[in-house]
Amino acid sequence: MTHEDWLRKAQALKIEGRLFIEGRYVDAQDGGSFDCTNPSTGAVLARIAQGEAKDVDAAVASALAAWNDRRWRGQAPRERMQVMNRWADLVEQHAEELALLETLDMGKPISDMLNIDLPEVLRTIRYFAECIDKVEGAVTHTAPGALHMILHEPLGVVGAITPWNYPMLMAVWKLAPILAAGNCVVLKPAEQAPLTCTRLAALFVEAGGPAGVFNLVNGLGPEAGRALALHPDVIKLSFTGSTRVGKLLMGYAGQSNMKRVALETGGKSPQIFMPDLYDLDAAVDRAVGGIFDNAGQVCNAGSRLLVHRDLQEAFTAKFIARTQALYQPGDPLDPATTLGPLASQPHQRKVLADIARGQAEGAQMVMGGTNVALPGTYVPPTLFVGHNRMAIAQEEIFGPVATLIPFDTEAEAIGLANDSVYGLAAAVWTRDLHQAHRMVGALEAGVVWVNCFGDGDMTQPFGGYKQSGNSRDKHVDSLLSYMQTKSAWFQVG
Ligand code: NAP
Repeated sequence: MTHEDWLRKAQALKIEGRLFIEGRYVDAQDGGSFDCTNPSTGAVLARIAQGEAKDVDAAVASALAAWNDRRWRGQAPRERMQVMNRWADLVEQHAEELALLETLDMGKPISDMLNIDLPEVLRTIRYFAECIDKVEGAVTHTAPGALHMILHEPLGVVGAITPWNYPMLMAVWKLAPILAAGNCVVLKPAEQAPLTCTRLAALFVEAGGPAGVFNLVNGLGPEAGRALALHPDVIKLSFTGSTRVGKLLMGYAGQSNMKRVALETGGKSPQIFMPDLYDLDAAVDRAVGGIFDNAGQVCNAGSRLLVHRDLQEAFTAKFIARTQALYQPGDPLDPATTLGPLASQPHQRKVLADIARGQAEGAQMVMGGTNVALPGTYVPPTLFVGHNRMAIAQEEIFGPVATLIPFDTEAEAIGLANDSVYGLAAAVWTRDLHQAHRMVGALEAGVVWVNCFGDGDMTQPFGGYKQSGNSRDKHVDSLLSYMQTKSAWFQVG
């Protein structure tokens, strides 16, 4: 489809912004609402119902009723599997609509939606659907006269709170294993980009999912999100978002029912380029994509480029040339666009302020800056040369801003990489297998890539060390994390 086709489709799009409780769309009980805007134009797309604590109560009550009467967990695994697969089929059938909604909502290029986010959403739902009857308990070897079974059971009502950077995908990384495990769920999506999640809930019911199993409350974090995190009937809270909010949620759990809190939080991922790496052009290509894809609004963005001093000059020149060739800002509805606007005006202001702070703290800006070429919330791809103690190298910017930090030795590179409160991901580029193996062991990160960046599939547990979180998305372990273990001991002899 051409740019004009997408613009035409956008005109005709019907947008739903209500809450989804007990299998149907409803308004917020107090009638509140907020604007949902298109960051590339500033136009208001829709009014979104603003759920508050009483709406969260209604959603949790609906989920709890579904849990108690076993309308979902009581189905045979194959039946639940069929519902999940039909859900994936419906998402696939609505791919254009969902891509368009998310592109309008948060500015992600439409080509990224069609080629990256949607295929990954489908893989996730189908992977966890497949897992449903593959997860097994155990019968342990015990004394004569005893039979001991270890059983995995779903938890109950799970709350999920998700961010705006991959709104549908981050939600599905939670929803698919939560539902596959037999739980009921209440989702609070990010206020900046709630539109695709709002559709996902209705598609689940259209696929045959029982009413009440998947409820959704749109609203603001400090109201609806907080109410969900404090709710006594929510047994687990699964969160993706900032480290700041993650810490609040742990507090809310302690203040309420000690619910389990699974956190996928921020990052400041280092990429280490050793002097013997195979192919500098290939490495630079991945470095550029690692920070400028999704306009840098990626939790594992490779925002710290640790480059051996011997490579620095050539690396910098190639990095600038590849960025200029690959990442020109454009209308995200144009299929040729690779760099869209940031998700909101406040976020654009924050990222521009971070760039200004980098200049003020003495980092050398070799590309980009604060001059925004287009209307809308764009930020130019920016590269600093600096050191690791600068705020631009320590704090998550969550925009298209990288800091190149030169080093001389492997030990220095590891020290710099680990000098961070975060530990989500890291990469090493080298042709020396022994060195790579040693460095993988030394890096404090939940995901380490060698001679690549951002690669993986559903078998890869994804999550962080340190303040990047305490949990893992993807992989069958994620399904098990939404279950609990029961030991059943029988006296049989
Ligand atoms: P955020 O500000 O922490 O918001 C995330 C979610 O939390 C939103 O739904 C937000 O609602 C809600 N929230 C805010 N305050 C809350 C409160 N007091 N109580 C309960 N919920 C509250 O994060 P974001 O700006 O949307 O997303 C960017 C962050 O997500 C980055 O730090 C990024 O690294 C992280 N992230 C991590 C991963 C990972 O896998 N580790 C993946 C993607 C993103 P509102 O939208 O209404 O504020």
